[in-house]
This record gives sequence, C-alpha cells and structure tokens, in this order.
Amino acid sequence: MPTQTETLPLLGQSVSELTDWVQTQGQPSYRGKQLHQWLYQKGARSLSEITVFPKQWRETLAETSIGRSAIHHCSIAPDETRKYLLRLADGLIIETVGIPTKKRLTVCVSSQVGCPMNCDFCATGKGGFTRNLQAHEIVDQVLTVQEDFQRRVSNVVFMGMGEPLLNLEQVVAAVRSLNQDVGIGQRSLTISTVGIPKQIQQLAQHHLQITFAVSLHASNQRLRHQLIPSANHYPLTALLDDCREYVKITGRRVTFEYILLAGVNDLPENAQQLAQHLKGFQSHVNLIPYNPINEADYQRPSKQNIQQFSEILQNHNIATSVRYSRGLEANAACGQLRASQAVNSKQ
Ligand code: SAH
Repeated sequence: MPTQTETLPLLGQSVSELTDWVQTQGQPSYRGKQLHQWLYQKGARSLSEITVFPKQWRETLAETSIGRSAIHHCSIAPDETRKYLLRLADGLIIETVGIPTKKRLTVCVSSQVGCPMNCDFCATGKGGFTRNLQAHEIVDQVLTVQEDFQRRVSNVVFMGMGEPLLNLEQVVAAVRSLNQDVGIGQRSLTISTVGIPKQIQQLAQHHLQITFAVSLHASNQRLRHQLIPSANHYPLTALLDDCREYVKITGRRVTFEYILLAGVNDLPENAQQLAQHLKGFQSHVNLIPYNPINEADYQRPSKQNIQQFSEILQNHNIATSVRYSRGLEANAACGQLRASQAVNSKQ
C-alpha cells in the first residue's frame, strides 16, 4: 500500500513531510531538507535535476512527480505586468498574473479552474467552473512567476480565477506552504472572497495573520444580488456580521473591495449607504474602477465620480483607497481572467 505522501506531489509538502517521504524511500533523513531546498529555493522541476542525490536513487525517481505545471503562454502588458497561462498535469489551463513594482513583485493566483460564482461583471465566471486547484498547483504559480522574473515574490493575492473559500482546505494548505516553505510573510498573503455562508468562520478558525478581503461591490442587498447571484443566499447584513466576527477572532481588519460601475453603484447615495454599514468597523475600503470585459456592458465611472465616492467614505472616517488595476492591455487585470490567449505573446 502506498502511503498518502507517496500519492501526493512533493510540491506543497513541508520539510517534515518531505523528510518522512525520503525515509520511506530508504534514504537518510537529511535528504528531506535537501529536497525542500531544491523544491522551494532552487526551483527544481524534476527529481533528476537534484544533483546532491545519489545518481542511482535519482534514476529510480525519474517517474515521481514534483508537481510543477508548464508555462503554456505568457503575455506582457506595456506596464510590465505578465499574464501566464499555465498547463496543469491534466491538461487544463489556468491563469496567473505577475505584477512588478520597484519594491514588490505581487502574484495574483487562481484557486480554481474557472469559477462557479458567475458575478455579472467578471469574465472568469462566464467560462464556467471545472474543478478546484490542489495546494501544489497554487504554490507552483508563485514559483513560476518568481523564476520568470528572476526576482523574489513579495506578495500573493488570491484574486485570480476562482472563489478561494469554496476550496478552503487546499487554499489554507497553500498559504502554509507559501509562508513556511517559500518564505512569504502571512501579512503579505491576501485571500479575497465574494462571501460564502459559514466559510468566513471556518477561515477565522485557522487564526491566520493573512490579509482578508471581501468583494462587497454594493451598498445594499438588492443591488448586491443584482451583481452577484450567490448573494441571494447570503444577505449583506449576515455577510457583514460574519466579517465582524472574523475581526474579533483574528484581530485583523477586513479589506472591502468595491468595484465602481458607472450609474449602477457609484452614486453619492451608495457611498452614504456603504458608510452607514461600515460605521465603527475595523476595515479598509478598496475602490476598484471597473475594467471592461466583452461579456458585460458596464462603464467605468469618471475620475470625478470616483473621487467623490472616495471623499464621502473618508468624511465618515472610513479608510479608503482607489486601486487602479494593472495589466489592462494584456487582459490580465482584475475580472478579466479567463483562459484565453492574449496579444503580445512572449513564447
Ligand atoms: N472570487 C474572489 C476572488 C476573485 S478576486 C472574489 O470575488 O473576491 C477578483 C477581484 O477582482 C475581486 O475584487 C473582483 O470583484 C474584482 N473584479 C472582478 N471583475 C472585475 C472587473 N471587471 N473590473 C474590476 N475588478 C473586477
């Protein structure tokens, strides 16, 4: 009978799990640390590359999967943002985005192949849902961007394809690995959710120090339901109560994301309503001007309206920032991800 670790890909496993595994292979325990270093620091793609391992053992391992995906395609936007299409072991394609600034390299990772939420303004949901990603398929995305930019990744946001809280177990396992194996601080990891009943409490129970973001996008239940079909089963007030509970349990504030759609949710009265909901709440609001997608005919508001919305919140002492997405030209910006090939092909 194979042990469980033998059936799992090696990527995503901790140093102690890897140590157990090398021992099941009849090797001394220190090879676990070596394997860990080659997987996460040196970026080995196959076990045969690990030259510190005895040749004979390496030959017997030729068929053992590390769990790396292949770069199927990469496009680069004028602002240097890179969008990758990665091919998983079963041939499915997911998207990952690398967003460089002077100080940071942020990776926007997918947590699912496609997405079942079907939010009206988001391209990912229009392509349907195929399956959850496994932890190693999430960790792989970060290593791939790190290697391609030849620079350490500083931040990871779970804002690519998919709804992370529908894949909580694997997402939490990936967070552990990104933190402890790849070495990225928990506070530099952001999980973003549209809100799934009971799952926010589940996440809170892990007591992670990650940044937690909730895609709110509306100032009242009627409007939210119009934009996000699943909101039907999760009233805005219940979602906000769960967020308050999250703050209590973890001691971490919540970031609320709010896409601004011209004439739909960007009116001064929406800002007033939102401010009432968030009064006294330990939170931060990120306003995200809508990025156009083919399948929806929303408009991005004018700069003036964006400013006005932001000022109303700030006048209510709500910490607010406006986040312009990067990578628009490569269809790599928020909400534009679906596994289609974009222009400016690199490979
Ligand atoms: N399902 C999770 C993770 C995906 S994150 C969530 O909804 O939070 C995707 C982020 O991009 C969210 O804040 C989402 O609301 C935002 N987004 C989606 N479509 C967008 C669009 N067309 N323009 C700008 N932001 C968009």
